Amino acid sequence: MLMLSECVALGLCGKYGIPNELSPGGTGPGLTRPARSQVKPAPFAYHRAHSVAEAVALLAELGEEAKILAGGLSLVPMMNFRLARPTALVDVSRIDGLSYLRADAAGAAGLRIGALTTHRTVETSRDPAVLNGFGVLPRSARWIGHYPIRSRGTFGGSIAHAGPASEWCLLAVLLAARIVLTGPDGQRTVPAADFFEGYYSTASTAAEMCPVDIVHLQTPSQFSETGAKGMGEGGTIGAPAAVLGAINDALSDTDVRFDHIPVLPQDLSAALNQAGAVP
Ligand SMILES: Cc1cc2nc3c(=O)[nH]c(=O)nc-3n(C[C@H](O)[C@H](O)[C@H](O)COP(=O)(O)OP(=O)(O)OC[C@H]3O[C@@H](n4cnc5c(N)ncnc54)[C@H](O)[C@@H]3O)c2cc1C
Repeated sequence: MLMLSECVALGLCGKYGIPNELSPGGTGPGLTRPARSQVKPAPFAYHRAHSVAEAVALLAELGEEAKILAGGLSLVPMMNFRLARPTALVDVSRIDGLSYLRADAAGAAGLRIGALTTHRTVETSRDPAVLNGFGVLPRSARWIGHYPIRSRGTFGGSIAHAGPASEWCLLAVLLAARIVLTGPDGQRTVPAADFFEGYYSTASTAAEMCPVDIVHLQTPSQFSETGAKGMGEGGTIGAPAAVLGAINDALSDTDVRFDHIPVLPQDLSAALNQAGAVP
């Protein structure tokens, strides 16, 4: 179960900073007033995973109501409002080796991004493998929330959460990313256009960690060169204002400009086709 110190660290404690289990009922000897919940979220068990294999095993064991905890920026507020009531959290934030941006080992024009890579890490990346072809990622990252959000929020959490205003979800669709899911039966890869089924809804199952290598962007980030495979098909994620500048930058060689939000992938696809920017 969650320790008090971890409760405080996660900002889960209520007015008195006391978890439900420790909260006394009544106010003195002989009083029988039932204990009132003094924490915001519904009760849950807490588990810390030290490897992807352990996380996946825990998720399988704990069942469908268990959830992965990464940066906690989207999940914890939902728990505090009791919009999400996971019975257990599997904390993956301390798993080593899941924070990276690196060129595809196969040498293709691809980039692999680890699940625990923070938005800030993307924003500050100076790796030529990122800047050369995927410069839209750091340029977009700087528009995500504010500094504490960017320094704690993860690429994997953003993709898995599938928020409609998420920079990474939109770019994953536009850049024809592939999401690598690790579950009890091994790994499977899902194209971003199929992965996002709707707002806050994805093709991953509760037992899958998404992912070890979260996305594999197959194509350079010059939108005019992407061919934007599946761009019109995914269609569920709209571009937030933050991405608009990056999109317009990438389209600077064309007559296409977007000055309104949301820009749906299919709008972009149609405009690029019209401008002859898509081969
Ligand atoms: C004030 C504020 C402003 C924000 N502004 C923006 C913004 O401008 N743009 C933007 O894109 N986002 C924004 N966010 C969201 C932020 O980017 C979050 O970091 C992100 O949505 C979730 O990442 P996380 O690591 O915190 O995930 P968590 O909150 O820990 O998890 C989110 C969900 O994903 C699941 N999950 C997490 N990691 C994995 C994984 N590896 N595999 C499978 N499932 C996983 C969890 O179970 C949970 O359901 C904002 C958030 C806040 C609080």
